[in-house]
Amino acid sequence: MTDGKTQPPPPPANPVLPQTFDDSKVIQFQCRKGIGCWNACCSNIDISLTPYDILRLKRRFASSSGEFLKQYTVPYEMEQSSIAGVKLRPVANGTACQFMRPEGCSVYEDRPTACRYYPVALLSLRRQDETTDSASYALVEEPHCLGHQEPRRISVADYRKEQGLDEYDDLARGWRQLILKKKSSGPSIGKPSKRSLELFFMVCYDIDRFSQFVASDGFSDIYDLPAQELKDILCDDNALMQFGFRFLRQVLFGEETIALRQEAAEQRRLRHLERRQRIETEAAARRALEQDEMYQYPEA
Ligand code: SF4
Ligand code: SF4
Repeated sequence: MTDGKTQPPPPPANPVLPQTFDDSKVIQFQCRKGIGCWNACCSNIDISLTPYDILRLKRRFASSSGEFLKQYTVPYEMEQSSIAGVKLRPVANGTACQFMRPEGCSVYEDRPTACRYYPVALLSLRRQDETTDSASYALVEEPHCLGHQEPRRISVADYRKEQGLDEYDDLARGWRQLILKKKSSGPSIGKPSKRSLELFFMVCYDIDRFSQFVASDGFSDIYDLPAQELKDILCDDNALMQFGFRFLRQVLFGEETIALRQEAAEQRRLRHLERRQRIETEAAARRALEQDEMYQYPEA
C-alpha cells in the first residue's frame, strides 16, 4: 500500500524472465487487500491499452472515445513497428495511475488487459494458420511485488479465468493479429502511409470517430456494405471494432473482404491522381520562380 510518503522502487528495465510457458504452468502468486505492497504496481504505471480496454473504460465513464483518449491516455509508437499505440496517462506530475485509490483500483470491473494479466505477461497470440490459438506466457517478477511470496498456487489457465481474460483476449485478437502481421511483414508492405497510420489510430482507439466515418457518405461511396450489416455494426461497438480490424487488414495489407464500389473507387483514384499532379505542377512552378529570383538578384 502506498501512503503518499514512500515510493516503490522503479521497475527493472526488462523484468520479463526469458522462460516462456503455456497456460498449464502453475505459478505461485496472489494479490490481496492488506498485502504489504498494496497499490505499489499502480503507483508507477506503464500500461498499454487494447481497443477493447478503451471500449470498456469509455463505456464506464459514459464518455466519447475522443474525450476518454484526451483525458486518460497518451499515444506512443510501438517498438519498430511504426504502429500507433495508446497507454494510460498517469496523474499530472506523477507516475501513479489516475484510477488508483487507497482502497484499490476504482475501475476494477473494467480494468485493462495488462492489469488483469499481471504478473503474467502475454507474449504472443500469433497463430501459424490463423485458426488455432497458441499463446505463450512469461512470469514478471518485480522486487516490489510481494504477491509471489503468497502461498497460493494456480495454473495460468485458471488465473486467466479468474481475471476474466477470455473475453478481453477474444475481442482484441484482431488487433493483435494486425500488429503481429505488421511486425513480421516484409519491406513491400512495411511502410504504411501517414494516412494509413492515422486510420489505424482512429479505427483501433477512437471508435466514435470511426463510427462517424463508417456512417458517412464518403464511406458508402467507396465501400459496398449491405444495408443490414452497416446498421448492425453502427449500433454495436464490439461489432464495429471487429469490422474495423477487417477494414484495416484491407487498407493496410490488401486483404479485400469488403466489397468496393468499382465506379466510385475509380473516380476517387482519378481525383487523387489529379490532385497529386496539381500539387507537383505548383511545386515545379514555385521552384522555377525561385531560380529566376536567384538569377535576377545574384549575391554581391
Ligand atoms: S487501471 Fe486499476 S489496476 Fe490498472 S494500473 Fe490503474 S489502478 Fe491499477
Ligand atoms: S501483490 Fe503485486 S499486484 Fe498485488 S498490489 Fe502488490 S505489487 Fe500490486
